[in-house]
Amino acid sequence: MRVMQLPAPGRPLELSQREPRRPGPGEVLVRVSACGVCRTDLHIVDGELPALAHPVVPGHEIIGAVVEAGSGADEFRPGERVGIPWLGWTCGHCDYCASGRENLCADARFTGYQIDGGYADYAIADARYCFPLPDGYGDAEAAPLLCAGLIGYRALVMAGDARRLGIYGFGAAAHIVAQVARFQGRSIHAFTRPGDEAAREFALHLGAAWAGDSTATPPEPLDAAILFAPVGALVPTALRAVAKGGTVVCAGIHMSDIPSFPYEWLWGERRIVSVANLTRRDGTQFLALAPKVPVKTTVETFALEQANEALARLREGRVNGAAVLITNGN
Ligand SMILES: [Zn+2]
Ligand SMILES: [Zn+2]
Repeated sequence: MRVMQLPAPGRPLELSQREPRRPGPGEVLVRVSACGVCRTDLHIVDGELPALAHPVVPGHEIIGAVVEAGSGADEFRPGERVGIPWLGWTCGHCDYCASGRENLCADARFTGYQIDGGYADYAIADARYCFPLPDGYGDAEAAPLLCAGLIGYRALVMAGDARRLGIYGFGAAAHIVAQVARFQGRSIHAFTRPGDEAAREFALHLGAAWAGDSTATPPEPLDAAILFAPVGALVPTALRAVAKGGTVVCAGIHMSDIPSFPYEWLWGERRIVSVANLTRRDGTQFLALAPKVPVKTTVETFALEQANEALARLREGRVNGAAVLITNGN
């Protein structure tokens, strides 16, 4: 099979060939048909996340069909379409796992980070962490649901019942969250890179009530803001845009440093929270909700060998919606 693997941080992904291994107990071997390209993959490639063994195969928005199930992996039958997300394994018995917060498990392992991911013809996953997928989505269209969708949904839940919602950074996650938020009757204020007309138009097309530069003041105070852009300087900016009692949700796994700001900007019971990873419950809830909205994903597809190009386009903010690798060479 072909794999696009990261030899070391800061280097381009390299194409190589290897035999897929057989699934062990509780595992499934999946023939990958599509894999989303997430900003987290960029952080991994750039070496911005700690403690990574190399080489690694990135990719944690994997859509594919089960080829073989290991002993005890009774969840899925051969041929069944599954989704493999970022959360790949948890210990199951720590205080976090025992209290429904497996996303915070200290021993958690993540797909495309500690576990080889979906930039490949085949992937192996623990069947307990795979999701059955809703019908009505093509493979490429379903891929962004698995991280942009799931973690975007978790961030939206963290925003509470905010009616006026700001979204900073209008990429893959935002374009999904905006649809869910509109479905829930919220109004969207989209903040995009200064001068990024395409992103502003995309946000308005998806039903945003207002779209402007990330440095702009929205026309009305917000009840909450979600930051998908990995830019720490936007945290105080967003704090100033939310009303008293408002929440700023930082949804990325990595962010540049947050500059200091006067306490007055936090005063009034404003809150800053982060979102870490996902639980399987987030996935089940979101994948049930998505077809009801219905969430429609906008994707730009690339061949597996074009993974470096897809990452470069994402880095430059030149992807409309979500980038997805299509794997056909099985
Ligand atoms: Zn992701
Ligand atoms: Zn645990």
